[in-house]
Amino acid sequence: MAEWSITEAEQLYRVKRWGGGYFEIGENGNLHMTPDPNNPDIRIDFKSVLDEIRDENIQFPLVVRFHDILRSQVVNINKIFRNKMEEAGYNATYMGVYPIKVNQMREVVEEVVEAGEPYNFGLEAGSKAELLTVLALNTNYDSLTILNGYKDEEFMMLALMGRKLGRKIIVVIEKFSELVTLTRLSKELGVEPLIGIRAKMFVKGKGRWEGSGGDKAKFGLSTAEIINAVNFLREHEMSHCLKLLHFHIGSQLTDIRSIKDAVTEAARIYAELHHMGAALEYVDVGGGLGIDYDGSHSTSESSRNYSMEEYVGDVVYGMMELCDMEGVPHPILVSESGRALTAHHSCVITEVVSEIKPSEQKFNTEPGANDHLIVNNIRDLAQNLDRYPNSQEVYNDASDWKEQAINAFKLKVLSLEELAKVETLYWQILARLRKREQSEPYSPEIIDDLDELLASQYLSNFSIFQSAADIWAIDQILPVVPLTRLNEKPTVNCSLVDITCDSDGKIDHFIGDNEINKTIPLHELKENEQYFIGLFLTGAYQDVMGDMHNLFGRLNEVHIYSYDDDPEDFYIEEVVQGSSVSNVLAIMQYNPKAMAQDVKRNVDKCISAGMIKPREGVKWIDFYEECLEGYTYLKTDSKQGFPKR
Ligand SMILES: *Cc1c(COP(=O)(O)O)cnc(C)c1O
Repeated sequence: MAEWSITEAEQLYRVKRWGGGYFEIGENGNLHMTPDPNNPDIRIDFKSVLDEIRDENIQFPLVVRFHDILRSQVVNINKIFRNKMEEAGYNATYMGVYPIKVNQMREVVEEVVEAGEPYNFGLEAGSKAELLTVLALNTNYDSLTILNGYKDEEFMMLALMGRKLGRKIIVVIEKFSELVTLTRLSKELGVEPLIGIRAKMFVKGKGRWEGSGGDKAKFGLSTAEIINAVNFLREHEMSHCLKLLHFHIGSQLTDIRSIKDAVTEAARIYAELHHMGAALEYVDVGGGLGIDYDGSHSTSESSRNYSMEEYVGDVVYGMMELCDMEGVPHPILVSESGRALTAHHSCVITEVVSEIKPSEQKFNTEPGANDHLIVNNIRDLAQNLDRYPNSQEVYNDASDWKEQAINAFKLKVLSLEELAKVETLYWQILARLRKREQSEPYSPEIIDDLDELLASQYLSNFSIFQSAADIWAIDQILPVVPLTRLNEKPTVNCSLVDITCDSDGKIDHFIGDNEINKTIPLHELKENEQYFIGLFLTGAYQDVMGDMHNLFGRLNEVHIYSYDDDPEDFYIEEVVQGSSVSNVLAIMQYNPKAMAQDVKRNVDKCISAGMIKPREGVKWIDFYEECLEGYTYLKTDSKQGFPKR
């Protein structure tokens, strides 16, 4: 076993840098989870989690949800706001809401509501379906329920129904016509709404979602519209219903400067409205609080250059200083952080089932009687490699010969066998060049090319489209870490490919030293030993963005709580079954029962025709039905390790 320490593993996988205090590489080489960063005595070893999952016969791949992390993040943001407000001498409170679009799973929303109860932490909805959800789930009537997104009459009526039921439900006006409808409905039904206004901001947030701010933003009222709205409400004697000013300049804000700018802009609007006689009580700073996915603590798109404390500090102090200057009361602060609360709490665990190597071709390259000149030339290069010290030149020549061989093959000048020889020699040359350059103290640029060309692909039992859609859709970086063997040197440079038939179904950008790496070092696969990797920070957005490409359905889920009195410090509280094949077929309008009958008729015909024996026929039908009820992913026998290559 090569010399390797967990410190080196940490440098490579940067667990502490993106882990938010929850994840750490243990002395035993396994990844650990610490539910409470202040109490390192409670530690959950991923190896124990894997063992228990196997003992319970739960099939991989699966999602693990750590409810402790979710709770802890909810408590964190509330405590940080409170502490900052106290420290600053801020004269109002914080009443945050969780935007459920970030992860609408019932268990997640319920956990957030429960953990947020002592702080009157509420919920936010952005569609009718979400509104119906929060009406039922937000059981804390002292907390806020905030409604964003475009609304129809039904949506508004549901909001007014919430008011009737005594909820603090605030309808945020996204465009002027919504105000007209809401005012009319409220008069018709005799219910007073609580109204918020979303401002179209001049500030643009930095990051992928910067289009949420600026002139071309999809949502919000312009300055003129805001003033008109205030006047409109005054005319309808509903000024007192206007309670909240809202903005949201985009998710995953990478640069703290845009947050400061936005708070200043919003505070100015709030103050001016106060001067106009509109006594708003709340300022809602929206979402945008980012996650450091790549651990770089920078303004790269998968990172952010600030902490939660710094974010809260800028919001609290920014608002307070401007309000004091303008002589208006400090508003109750609301934020709608979703990503920051949920990203850490879940991860996807998948098994690497085999390795696809570009370079390991066993083929006889001995000279043949009629070998073409191209074959002889590249063989000559391979045999006399040591005579050519300039690796770049060798690499260029080898690539050239290979290119020529392909063209010659197309023109019927080269046989398939000759082409196979060229291909084999080409990969042998590249592998030897890489070895030679690796031992050089100064490695030239070519090593990067070679690393990439010679990298293996680890075939992993999952679908990126279902489980990590943002990696595919927006080149999001999500940390990938082996769950065990972290005290062993990872010697295989690889990218990951999933089991969909889509060449986009791959992960080929990983956390790197200064930039994004196309490959990640993982451990060599062993016969009869399963190798599991975790895809982390999947708790925000990934669950709902996932799709059924290739009919791979939802994953099994394991919900874990920490428990100090347990020898392993945890217990599995719930297992949520993922989709069966018949589940996903039903969504696509199939009738799995009818399909089974069709197949049975087919088998019966074959039995009548004497092609299959009756007993065998029954077995095939049973097998077909069993697969219909089975999991959509590869079945790897968990006791036997990955299938033989
Ligand atoms: C998406 C969204 C959020 C959540 O943003 P995060 O960056 O995930 O915290 C909050 N408010 C509104 C209006 C949104 O559209």
